[in-house]
Amino acid sequence: MKYVYPAILYPDDGKIGVTVPDLPGCHTYGDDKADALLMAKDAVEMWLWDAENTKTPIPPASENVLPNPGETLFHQAVQEVVESLIPFVEANPKYKKAKILERMIEPERVIIFRVPWIDDNGEFQINRGYRIQMNSAIGPYKGGIRFHPSVNLSTLKFLAFEQTLKNSLTTLPMGGGKGGSDFNPKGKSENEVMRFCQSFMTELQRHIGADTDVPAGDIGVGGREVGYMFGQYKRLRNEFTGVLTGKGLSFGGSLIRPEATGYGTTYFAEYMLNDKGDSLKGKTVAISGSGNVAQYAVEKCIELGAKVVTLSDSNGTIYDKDGIDSEKLAFVMELKNEKRGRIKEYADKYTSSVYHDGQRPWKLAKYDVAMPNATQNELDEDDAKVLLANGVICVAEGANMPSTLDAVNQFLEAKILYAPGKASNAGGVATSGLEMCQNSGRISWTAKEVDSKLKGIMKNIHDNCVKYGKEKGGYVNYVKGANIAGFIKVADAMIAQGLV
Ligand code: NAP
Repeated sequence: MKYVYPAILYPDDGKIGVTVPDLPGCHTYGDDKADALLMAKDAVEMWLWDAENTKTPIPPASENVLPNPGETLFHQAVQEVVESLIPFVEANPKYKKAKILERMIEPERVIIFRVPWIDDNGEFQINRGYRIQMNSAIGPYKGGIRFHPSVNLSTLKFLAFEQTLKNSLTTLPMGGGKGGSDFNPKGKSENEVMRFCQSFMTELQRHIGADTDVPAGDIGVGGREVGYMFGQYKRLRNEFTGVLTGKGLSFGGSLIRPEATGYGTTYFAEYMLNDKGDSLKGKTVAISGSGNVAQYAVEKCIELGAKVVTLSDSNGTIYDKDGIDSEKLAFVMELKNEKRGRIKEYADKYTSSVYHDGQRPWKLAKYDVAMPNATQNELDEDDAKVLLANGVICVAEGANMPSTLDAVNQFLEAKILYAPGKASNAGGVATSGLEMCQNSGRISWTAKEVDSKLKGIMKNIHDNCVKYGKEKGGYVNYVKGANIAGFIKVADAMIAQGLV
């Protein structure tokens, strides 16, 4: 039996709980991280000895006793945060005493509902809808809605947990939430998407509001879907409020909101490089995805003088040796946003490019900078090793948790510039926060004003990560910096508000 190490750490009743995923039932806890890992090592040895002597078959991993069994993405997100927060919480006992970590991993509320709708053939269809209202300590719940067949409770809890820290990092008064459905918008007609969005909002509207919970877009939810959901909310509630962000410009949307996540991620990469006396100018960049975040990251990279050579979707990757220029980007935007086509069609049009079916960008060539902008766990340990061997100097995540824990550890050990999504992709939600401000004040700012505020927020997040993440020797651990900086504001608000 393989000895699986390190184990998963999580807060447990004021102590550090630890479980070994491949050994179901192997679960213990310690006073601090070192103690917990020592206890886990003993427990593993005893467990294996016991199994050997009693000839007990190893039970399936689904019997794992970690809280929330089966929620692997949520465990992964908590693990990454808890690992870097433990020393900080140990050094600040007020957080331990108030059991802040234990409270933060328990959503304030989870809403799960049926979404019935009728397809174009007149068939009844049923999907599942969710809203995770994770933490409202510093403001109304805020976070996107994802429509993708992979959506389940674990996906949305991981996203809502990350969102709580991310929203805190923006310095705007927004709590954390996330929602979505296992509905697959791909291949659906306009009318089917509209009927689904209306049915989804018919239930969701009971639980949200401009001062309660303000959803936005995410994977599979762009301006079109936000528009349909806003229309249905307004119809049912008879009120025109800023209940959703990412709205169309003619009904309360903010300029720069569609661009904000991609632009913000690129600004963040630029600030990390600037910190080292370098910049994106002249750098070769690999970008994954070809949706909202990826498209605007390409636009900003071009503007800052970098050469983007890849884009991808769930079917494969295009590599363009000449780089993606503004004209080619306009083609991608039309292909993806209007025609809803596949990235393969880029290679059919541009002979400077090659399509790699079923592949991700990371191993195809040498890059200076990588921006994983598609989805969770799209960059694993092996990809990270190849990127590093090929000389990558900076990784900025536009997607949420696109790198596996092992990949993150590779980047940190190599001491390259590595920004976790909760810091580098916070520009989207920050600009949603700016949209909320404009809606409450019944005003609209110019694109220049919003972009300059976005830049200021990204710089501030960067500097806060440096403040809390700088280690002996000067290396900036942005993971640690983002987790601690995001945690403090939420934790202090939770303590001030009592045990609620
Ligand atoms: P999007 O417009 O729907 O685009 C998603 C892109 O990722 C598409 O190219 C999609 O390809 C690809 N993709 C999705 N699932 C995949 C999979 N399993 N394997 C490979 N590729 C996959 O979504 P988005 O808004 O750009 O979001 C991308 C990421 O950024 C997500 O992690 C999201 O949570 C994060 N994010 C978004 C925002 C925002 O403001 N939109 C803000 C912060 C973070 P297909 O077309 O083949 O599915």
